[in-house]
Amino acid sequence: MKRFVSMLLFMSLFFTMFATVGQAAEVVPKLFLNGKLLTSAANPQIIDKFTVVPVRTISEGLGYQIQWDNTSKAATVTHGTNVIKLKYNDKTALVNDKTVLMDTSVAIIKGNALVPLRFIGEQFGLDVEWNNTAKEVHMYEHLSEPVDPIEPAEPVVPTALVTDVAYNGDSTLTMSYEGTMKANKPLLLDNPKRVVFDFPNTGFITLVNGQAVIDVTDSTYLQKVRYSLFSNTPSTVRLVIEISNDTGYVLTEDVGTFQLKFMALTDVPVDPTIPVEPPVVVIPTDPPPSKDVFNIVIDPGHGGTDPGASSITNKWEKEFNLSVALKMKALLDKETKIKAHFTRTGDTYPSLDDRVKFAENLKADLFISIHANKGPATATGAETYYYKDNSKALAAVIHKRLIAATKIKDRGVKKEAYKVIKQTTMPAVLIEAGFLSNTNDVKMLYDDAAQNRIAAELVAGIKEYLKVK
Ligand SMILES: [Zn+2]
Repeated sequence: MKRFVSMLLFMSLFFTMFATVGQAAEVVPKLFLNGKLLTSAANPQIIDKFTVVPVRTISEGLGYQIQWDNTSKAATVTHGTNVIKLKYNDKTALVNDKTVLMDTSVAIIKGNALVPLRFIGEQFGLDVEWNNTAKEVHMYEHLSEPVDPIEPAEPVVPTALVTDVAYNGDSTLTMSYEGTMKANKPLLLDNPKRVVFDFPNTGFITLVNGQAVIDVTDSTYLQKVRYSLFSNTPSTVRLVIEISNDTGYVLTEDVGTFQLKFMALTDVPVDPTIPVEPPVVVIPTDPPPSKDVFNIVIDPGHGGTDPGASSITNKWEKEFNLSVALKMKALLDKETKIKAHFTRTGDTYPSLDDRVKFAENLKADLFISIHANKGPATATGAETYYYKDNSKALAAVIHKRLIAATKIKDRGVKKEAYKVIKQTTMPAVLIEAGFLSNTNDVKMLYDDAAQNRIAAELVAGIKEYLKVK
């Protein structure tokens, strides 16, 4: 009985897989772009456990312009109006003038600048598929679903007939068939976000023409499934699954079944040979039960080597974030029913993973990450982000306080999958207290009295939420 599990990432999530591959078998990983093998004098390498790839090779493969200045050892990648600047030995990149911290510094090997693959995937908007058997990374641009059926070829008798397509609940979809069936490489498409499988030389036992739709109502990860006989020449079955953002899946193929289990991207197992049992996430009830002492985490964003956004007054975002956090600390230290913990109290850079682990290990009752925004000069206002349903109430309270303190435009409460508020399990919010790129906002953000107000209102919001007198 043949059984294998393969995995696919819809977003560039982790690229450290090479580490084990490279060390164990000395296999040189191959890099493909849109199915085409990319060749370069410099192969992908592992640096500090992160995979780095030749930026020129990928840029040129995508048709982006890349310029290398040998004096300053700096590369500029231009794609339409997007400009990415990278510098040798530098861990920060400038993406449209915004600082982005990469996993490792830019390296030069055999005359090629090598840049972390994760950065490339995220900034170039590529989907990445890891083929563990062949030790290959496939990068794909977002393509559009072909509208025209595949060109007619010689009539071929289907080698497989689909007998059933069923949603099994629990975000699992099973296609049953007779014969020999093989899917083409799936396409990942946007608007709506969906994954498309074509099965050439495959037909249906009963569905002769047209298409069938399964509306899924009980899954966080998939919304709708449709399948059809996409072409008669040759007979091709198309399966389209509409999915949520940040969704991944594990494909399990067995004799007569093609099964897809959808899950949060972060739950897709690193080792595709390990069977999948996504962790059970217990969402605490909201508001929190009363306690003698609440443990809370305050997370001043960025720090150390990661300065965050720059302001028009030449100060860094990390300075604002820390200053407000320390003012909160002074207030929270006086509280007897709240024990506040800080992801940093100096100019250091705990990684996002460190911050999540810090809060999880403490089993903190709530988590607040402090940031300031950057955008066009006219953009102004404060906003509060949450991601999980259990964080909505906290977001509402904190945002109300933030607006009272900053006295700038109310940009509202928004949902976004920022790592620190997504991967933590307790109620967690991230505030953007104003725009460092706006004259009015920035004056307020670095004003001592305004920072005192923000700290005091946030602490008041925490007490209100926790129902602490
Ligand atoms: Zn920030």
